[in-house]
Amino acid sequence: MNVIEETAFVNAKIERIVIIGAGHAGGEAAMRLRQLGFAGDVTVIGAEAQAPYQRPPLSKAYLLGELSLERLLLRPLTTYNDERITLILNRKVQFIDRAGKNVRIEGGRVLPYDALILATGSRARTLPLAGADLPGVHLLRTVEDVDAIRANLQPGARLGVIGAGYIGLEVAAIARKLNAEVTVIEAAERPLARVTSPEVAGFFLDQHVAHGVRFELGAQAAVLKGDDRVRAIGLADGGEVACDIVIAGIGVLPETGLAETAGLQIQNGVAVDADMRTSDPAIFAIGDCVSRPMVHYRDRRARLESVHNAIEGAKIAAAALMGQPRPTEEAPWFWSDQYDLKLQIAGLFNGYDQIVMRGDMAEKSFAAFYLKAGRLIAVDAVNRPGEYLGAKQLIQRGASIAPTALADLSRPFKAIMTEAV
Ligand code: FAD
Repeated sequence: MNVIEETAFVNAKIERIVIIGAGHAGGEAAMRLRQLGFAGDVTVIGAEAQAPYQRPPLSKAYLLGELSLERLLLRPLTTYNDERITLILNRKVQFIDRAGKNVRIEGGRVLPYDALILATGSRARTLPLAGADLPGVHLLRTVEDVDAIRANLQPGARLGVIGAGYIGLEVAAIARKLNAEVTVIEAAERPLARVTSPEVAGFFLDQHVAHGVRFELGAQAAVLKGDDRVRAIGLADGGEVACDIVIAGIGVLPETGLAETAGLQIQNGVAVDADMRTSDPAIFAIGDCVSRPMVHYRDRRARLESVHNAIEGAKIAAAALMGQPRPTEEAPWFWSDQYDLKLQIAGLFNGYDQIVMRGDMAEKSFAAFYLKAGRLIAVDAVNRPGEYLGAKQLIQRGASIAPTALADLSRPFKAIMTEAV
């Protein structure tokens, strides 16, 4: 990045901030700007009909029917009014004119900006299969997706879940609660292959099997069969899974289209620096759509898909825009709820060379610590909030700790933490 350009931008008076994307990151950024005292115009433009809402309950309590749409919202609508934040909903931004510093919104309106925040998130990967457009085949990303699923997910319904990542497994757990018959189809040989160790994945597989979920592992969905609606998933080996409803949870793609057309640097997501600034000093990017330097993992850049990442990006970008020091970053965290299991994850487990277990899988209460060259880099904690919170702090500090100490259940985790160096 050109340092002179950047300094010129920081010194320029910013009166109008436009945020593209009214999701978790976009909503948080708008509020954060006000909390830090920004007095100018803040406009958030979102393609969805809803004000910013939380997506995690979509595959949990909202799918179960235990949460209303109102409770999904990040904040009541009146808050945006009170904070003088203009929400333009149900409208897509079609184009960013970097030279003219304005954005063109669907319908023709052009909105000028002094600074722009891209918070366009990600979209669910679609099934590249014949029959993917049959009624009864669903993705799960938005409130509308879940409303359509709920209408079909009756007791006794036969559900085929394609993809055994967190979303696929959460859906399987809720569907069992709703007394649906569930088959999960996964191309890898185990569930959660991309996101956790074989040990923890094996634990979750056993839990689902115990709850009556069937698995087709190492299986490729090849075609969706049906007439007026989906009737079966055809597998590449010739097998078939009969179903009345299919939910695909096969990952997401970052929404980088606008940024690419605008000529911003892309690197597995919109590339940003540690202040969330893109290759254009007047444009920031946050949330699922970015790849950013990981301060707790030297020389590592990653694209994360989590609420924490959305909130952290919003905090950092708002501070940079206000000329304030960069806030201290927490280690990345994530969670997943399945049956009576609360999984809490801190850190990034990729590249670990040692795993240390503490607690008892049979009791559904354990923590798996991941170490690299003696340093704690991540934890998966199931129904063990103390270990999760403690490990998160240690990861943040870049601490090393003896594996024997981590595994020692005779001492409270707080005491063990004092041995970290
Ligand atoms: P999004 O929430 O995707 O918001 C981006 C918004 O931008 C969208 O509304 C989109 O329509 C809009 N947009 C895109 N392009 C344009 C445009 N050109 N013009 C206008 N608007 C545009 N995370 C966790 O940490 N824990 C969980 O348990 C968890 N569970 C999840 C369960 C589900 C079912 C899903 C879908 C996600 C879950 N996540 C979870 C991930 C988390 O919700 C996301 O990481 C988070 O929502 C990212 O926020 P974001 O604002 O970057 O993107």
